[in-house]
Amino acid sequence: MSDKEIQSDKKMISENDLLSETKAETKAEMDTISKQILELQEKSELTKSEKRRLSRLQKKVESLEAQQEEEKEQYHRDIYYMKEAIRQAKKAAVLNEVPIGCVIVKDDVIISRGYNRRNTDHSTLSHAEISAIRKASQKLNDWRLEDCTLYVTLEPCQMCAGAIVQARIKRVVVGSMNPKAGCAGSVLNILQMKEFNHQVELVTGIGKEECSDLLKVFFRKLR
Ligand SMILES: [Zn+2]
Repeated sequence: MSDKEIQSDKKMISENDLLSETKAETKAEMDTISKQILELQEKSELTKSEKRRLSRLQKKVESLEAQQEEEKEQYHRDIYYMKEAIRQAKKAAVLNEVPIGCVIVKDDVIISRGYNRRNTDHSTLSHAEISAIRKASQKLNDWRLEDCTLYVTLEPCQMCAGAIVQARIKRVVVGSMNPKAGCAGSVLNILQMKEFNHQVELVTGIGKEECSDLLKVFFRKLR
């Protein structure tokens, strides 16, 4: 990685609350258990059952620590792949297209990339996610993208969210939200409707500053 890339990596992390590296629920559970351990340790003498409880709690803390470590690694992987999606979005900007980019990852490898080409292709189907989904399916020779994670710089629209559910993509990571048209929680949450046969794991706000800056700069130039 170049210095510039590292710099921008740091920027993306520091702009997110560091707490977001691990899930709030994990942190809350950790705090509760640590408090219970402290209370037991402050007692001058422990009964047998208290000793057993203490050792149970200590084991639980160890497993929570491992979980936090895992969440932290996942967070850093998410930042890394979102940067790749941003790289795709920049390709769209070069073509004077709204800068939206996407990558699909399977087993820690990028299997496809896509960026918005709606005007260039004269096609409403040329959204970043649809292109990436099409290419991923070609690569895997399967319409099912079950063990894949899709990274996209802007919250998916209804068409793309529909395609994501249809492709049974496991996990979606979104950069910035789109309050007026997004279907991963803003207007609708098509990705997680219990009425459908597939629900997606959803993470939002990864690299959101950089993703929304791209759009802001693009629309400012248009004016
Ligand atoms: Zn779309």
